[in-house]
Amino acid sequence: MVENSGPWYLKLHWQVLIALVLGAVVGSILPGFSMKIGFLGDLFLRLLKMIIIPLIFASLVNGITSLGDAKKVGRIGLRTFVYYTLTTALAITVGLTMVNIIQPGVGLEIGVNAELPEEFVTASHSFDQFLLRLVPDNVIGAMAQGEVLPVIFFAILFGLFLTTLNDGRGKAVQEVIDGFLEVIQRMTLAIIKLAPIGIFALLAREVARSGLDIIVALGPYFLTVGAGLGFHAFVTLPLLLIILGRRSPLIYARRVLPALATAFSTASSSATLPLSMQRAEHEAGLPKGVVSFVLPLGATVNMDGTALYEAVAALTIAQMYGVSLDLPAQILVLFTALLASVGAAGIPMAGLVMLVVVLQAVGLPLEGIATIIAVDRVLDMARTATNVWSDLVGTAVISRFEGSTS
Ligand code: ASP
Repeated sequence: MVENSGPWYLKLHWQVLIALVLGAVVGSILPGFSMKIGFLGDLFLRLLKMIIIPLIFASLVNGITSLGDAKKVGRIGLRTFVYYTLTTALAITVGLTMVNIIQPGVGLEIGVNAELPEEFVTASHSFDQFLLRLVPDNVIGAMAQGEVLPVIFFAILFGLFLTTLNDGRGKAVQEVIDGFLEVIQRMTLAIIKLAPIGIFALLAREVARSGLDIIVALGPYFLTVGAGLGFHAFVTLPLLLIILGRRSPLIYARRVLPALATAFSTASSSATLPLSMQRAEHEAGLPKGVVSFVLPLGATVNMDGTALYEAVAALTIAQMYGVSLDLPAQILVLFTALLASVGAAGIPMAGLVMLVVVLQAVGLPLEGIATIIAVDRVLDMARTATNVWSDLVGTAVISRFEGSTS
């Protein structure tokens, strides 16, 4: 099902590129109109959100059962863990290097009038809280609330125990879930057709909403995060894709572009998951077992862009308050940014909320968040696209190591 026939304007990646450009143009010259058509983007987003929970459950169970046994799942799980941890650590290192060189927080005014939203003050992010949230006390409740991590936990256990049921009943359950997944994927395929309209409407409204002045005031900080994300997305990840995945980054990026553009315009890794899975499997030809296991995990726990952003934001706030963080403190930032990115949900602004963890770890004032919140949406869009790109590169790399690229 690789798109290689028909006129160019029927190809989704071109339609998506045009939607991005048109969205930016219309958003800046027709703000009133752009605000009005924003609901079309919300509609697209709701359609995607509608299928996330059933998709995550079915694809993880299917991924595990098609891998066959717990040993193989363990091996891929370990590779996934190593890739995700290493790339996230690389991203944070790039962010820390940039923020130390550029020093965007020096001379930045502390937003005295800016109020810190309630959720930052009351947020509790200790490790035991994280573990408790991972295990659902009511899996239907977790599904109903759209809580992805507990659903992943349940799905992995369900899949693993399903592989131990080696009789007709086990086969029957697998077939039902396989068929269920197929239906969800067909629904995804229909929703994807709306991606250009959704992306256009979301971007136009976003451009109409966020004034340029704020971006200019926070320019150096904005540029530091942007440069870090750019380096990771355009240098580090493509190099990994070439060296470890043996794939051309350009061709691969073109195949998965609708997923990247959706990540950018929705600022939600979770909402992008249906598209990422569809493009990785059907357009880039990656094996279903790896895609169904590695991508849902990645969309939830692997957030290179978010981790990089946490590190840059924390150091910018330190510079803003005139606090100098020595090497051990910066290493602490590295580890807490890594954990915070794992704990961040794949939804808009989650990274900003998790910044509390990093600031608390190194004893920085939480009020610093109030200053940088102004440009968060645009940075959120960029870091989400980086998050999804890293998940997709990881899936290609792990597919190759599983010896089944096609
Ligand atoms: N919006 C990001 C995501 O969904 C998370 C974040 O806020 O950094 O990947």
